[in-house]
Amino acid sequence: MTNYYQKDIETASREEIIRIQEEKLRKQVRHVYDNVPYYRAKMDEKGVTPDDIQCLDDISKLPFLCKDDLRDAYPYGLLGVDLKDCVRIQSTSGTTGKRVVAFYTQNDIDIWEECCARAIVAAGGTKDDVCHISYGYGLFTGGPGLNGGSHKVGCLTLPMSSGNTERQLQFMMDLGSTILCCTPSYAAYLGEALAEKNIKPDENKLKAGIFGAEPWTEEMRQSIEKSLGIKAYDIYGLTETSGPGVSFECEEQTGMHINEDHFYAEIIDPDTGEVLPEGSKGELVFTSLDKEAFPLLRYRTRDICVLSRKPCSCGRTHVKMSKPMGRSDDMLIIRGVNVFPSQIETVLLKEGYPPNYQIELDRKNNTDTFDVYVEMSPDQMSDKISDIQKREKDIEAAMRTMLGIGPKIHLVPVKTIARSEGKAVRVVDKRKLHD
Ligand code: ADP
Ligand code: ZN
Repeated sequence: MTNYYQKDIETASREEIIRIQEEKLRKQVRHVYDNVPYYRAKMDEKGVTPDDIQCLDDISKLPFLCKDDLRDAYPYGLLGVDLKDCVRIQSTSGTTGKRVVAFYTQNDIDIWEECCARAIVAAGGTKDDVCHISYGYGLFTGGPGLNGGSHKVGCLTLPMSSGNTERQLQFMMDLGSTILCCTPSYAAYLGEALAEKNIKPDENKLKAGIFGAEPWTEEMRQSIEKSLGIKAYDIYGLTETSGPGVSFECEEQTGMHINEDHFYAEIIDPDTGEVLPEGSKGELVFTSLDKEAFPLLRYRTRDICVLSRKPCSCGRTHVKMSKPMGRSDDMLIIRGVNVFPSQIETVLLKEGYPPNYQIELDRKNNTDTFDVYVEMSPDQMSDKISDIQKREKDIEAAMRTMLGIGPKIHLVPVKTIARSEGKAVRVVDKRKLHD
C-alpha cells in the first residue's frame, strides 16, 4: 500500500492543482512586484504588470531570472521580505561559479521540510525508520533539508553529515540505519567500503536510499541498489528553489514528482526561451508559488529534462520530471561533438566497470584531447598488459558508438581515482587554462 505524507494534495485532481497554482501565482506575482525592486524593474521593462498575470498560461509573459541575475543581485537584491523576518541563509555548493545565497522565513523552512518529508515517505519512510543523513550540513542545503524532513516524518534522525567513512559505516551498522540520504557517488563509495569490510548487502538494515544533488544514471542506480541491498530513489532540488525536495521519486522509479502546489514547472528551448509542449526535452524553469523570502519567478535552472503527465501507479498526480541528464553547462563540446558526462557513465557501467571514473580534456596542437580514466574492480585487475589493452579498446569502441567520438581509455587500479563525499568531480577540463 502506498503511503503519502500529505495525501490530499499529493493525489489532488488536475483541476484542483491548477486552481491552487493560479490562486498562489496571482498572489506571488503581486508580492514580488511590490517587494523586489530588481524583478519589478525587469517586469516594467517588459511592460508586464501583476494584473496581466491571471492564469497559468500568462506566466510566459513574465521575464526569466537566471544565475547571473542572482550573482548581480548578491546578496540582498532578490529578497522579498525584511531581513529581520528571515530565519536562515543557505548557499549553493558553487559547482559552476560564484556561490549564490538564499534566504528563508520560518514558513519557507516549514514548506521545504514538508517537501522533503513527502520524499522520505515516498521512499517508504515511517516513524519506525532510522534516517541516516550523509549529505553535507552547513551552508549546503542537502543535510538541513532532509534533516528537517526526517523530523517531520518522525524518523529517528542520524545527522551524520559527509565525511569520515569509517564512522559512517560503524553507526550505520551499530544503530541500524534503514534509510540512507547522500549523493549517489557517496552512496556508491559507502557500498564499496562495506564490501571491503566483507559486510554483505543483506547484513546491513538499509532498505532505501534517497540520492540526489548530482546527475546519476539508471546504470548507477542498479549498481548502488546491488551493493547496498536497497531500493534507490532519486531526489532533486536546488538552493535557488529551497533545496532538495522540489521533486522526488516514488516506488515506480520512472521520474520525480514535482511538488506542484509549491512550484510551477515549465520546459523551454534554452536557445530561444520559447515554452515547449509536454514531452519535449528542454531547460527546466521554476516559479516558486509561495516562497516569501526568496521568491524567484521563472528561474532558469539550466537542467535539461522532460516533463510527463502520464498517470503514475503510486496515485500521486503531480507532474513528473525525468532525471536531468546534466546541466546545459555540463555539456562538453569535444572536437565539435556534444558530450554529456552521464553518457560516459552509462557506457562504463554497462560494460561492467564500477562508477569510479574521471574525464580529462586538454588541448594539444590546437586539437582537443579526450581521456577517460576508469577504475577496475578488484576482480578485473590483471597482470597481463595485453588483457588490459584489449579491454581499453573494447570500451573505446562502445564509447564511439554512444558518443560519435572515441576517448582514449586508461584502465587504472582500484582506488586510483579520488572518492567524493559530496558532489563527484567527473570532469577536469584543462582546456580553459590555456585560453
Ligand atoms: P550548485 O549549482 O552550486 O551545484 P546546488 O547545490 O543548489 O548548487 O545544486 C543544484 C543543482 O544540482 C541542480 O540545478 C542540478 O543541476 C543538480 N541536481 C540536484 N539534484 C539532482 C538530481 N537528482 N539529478 C541530477 N542533478 C541534480
Ligand atoms: Zn508516482
